[in-house]
Amino acid sequence: MTLAAPAQRVWEAALGRLQVQVPRPTYDTWLRGTEGQSLAENILIVSAPSPFVAEWLQRRMHGLMRDAVTAVTGRHTNVSLSVATEAGPEVPLAVAPVPSASPRTPREVSPAPMMLNARYTLDSFVVGKSNRLAFAAASAVAESPGRSYNPLFLHGAVGLGKTHLLHAIGHQALAAGHRVRYVTCEQFTNEFTAAIRERRTAEFQARYRSLDVLLVDDIQFLCGKDGTQEAFFHTFNTLHGADRQVVVAADRPGAALGPLDERLRSRLEWGLVADLQRPDFETRVAILERHSALAPVPVPAEVISYLAEAESSCIRQLEGLFNRVTALAHFSGTPVTVEFARETNPPSERRQPDPADPSTTITKVATYFGVAAATLAGPRRDRAVSQARQVAMFLLRQQGLRAERIGTLLGGRDRTTVAYALDRIQQRMLNDDAFRATLDELSQPLSS
Ligand code: ADP
Ligand code: MG
Repeated sequence: MTLAAPAQRVWEAALGRLQVQVPRPTYDTWLRGTEGQSLAENILIVSAPSPFVAEWLQRRMHGLMRDAVTAVTGRHTNVSLSVATEAGPEVPLAVAPVPSASPRTPREVSPAPMMLNARYTLDSFVVGKSNRLAFAAASAVAESPGRSYNPLFLHGAVGLGKTHLLHAIGHQALAAGHRVRYVTCEQFTNEFTAAIRERRTAEFQARYRSLDVLLVDDIQFLCGKDGTQEAFFHTFNTLHGADRQVVVAADRPGAALGPLDERLRSRLEWGLVADLQRPDFETRVAILERHSALAPVPVPAEVISYLAEAESSCIRQLEGLFNRVTALAHFSGTPVTVEFARETNPPSERRQPDPADPSTTITKVATYFGVAAATLAGPRRDRAVSQARQVAMFLLRQQGLRAERIGTLLGGRDRTTVAYALDRIQQRMLNDDAFRATLDELSQPLSS
């Protein structure tokens, strides 16, 4: 390994501490792409891959970052955020021809610069039984957009590689000179509402309708937003009618896309529908082997099999486990052994609770929010408790429980209260990535 510059070394060590302090999805979403830039006096400058991430970190995690860095340097050190300008781990790309593409400023709302993770390529995607069709379809689409499967609809549970494949298609299509845009459903919604507010809908339409390839992630969050659905529907029709490629990803099959407009839902299934399943043991090993090439310490084969045996099944979680073990070994100077991995992830932490049992979900949520499970079924209505209760309702709903049942389980509340809670959570997920990451984490073992 090369000797890292002091700023980078300090930040990496701080990241090691943060990784064990914040929920894994939060770490992956916000901290993973950051880098230590320079260290002067008592200020460490950290670059984020986008203005959005920089702002979020500044707002939500400044104190934690400062404390972590201070702990590493041993003297009071502040953290200042900047936005990466050169190609970092993520490559900022604005490829759609945007009228009046003036220099971007961090505060600009529309359009957000497009971000493709450089790590998410077809080459780095490990193919196994669980994802063969999705991979083959993505490769075909990347090879000749608009010609093979249009639209391509990818679905599968959280952390199984949907976003990875969308980015991979994006990279390849860009390299071939196509006009590409990758957006999450949330970005699409934000851009659309901003366009309406700023009376720039024509520009919005032009931006999308001039594309060769449109990649839309997490389409399940389009549910319920009527105006946005309509906008997406028209965009979709225009592109599809002109043989431009559309690829969408969702965390559930089309039929389960709840309140999504029926016309839209059926169109999404016109082309090819490919699902991603949980990877089998061999695939998990292959993924970790690939991952270990980037690890800060050597990881012996038996540790890889040990980690792959953890039935955590979702790949993001598997990678998180792996990162935790290697980061801790790295920072404590301990070699990675099966013992060490076991101590870091005691089997009790790895066991999955019975997904069918609602009380497991309720207990889990209560623990996460630091309240007693019984409190969630009790009368308290202060903010912290209400929020935890709403989250529990949402997760139970995701598990397929009916609103009446959920209300009964949580202290005999009526179905209107449950419906209200579900709505609140949906809304918040649309606007708050960190919150969504939290829900991802809470729902993970339950979706197996
Ligand atoms: P999703 O969008 O389905 O929630 P992601 O695409 O974000 O999942 O994948 C989660 C993590 O797992 C990413 O780091 C991704 O690179 C990795 N990953 C998923 N599937 C594979 C695979 N088949 N090969 C290699 N890495 C994978
Ligand atoms: Mg995703």
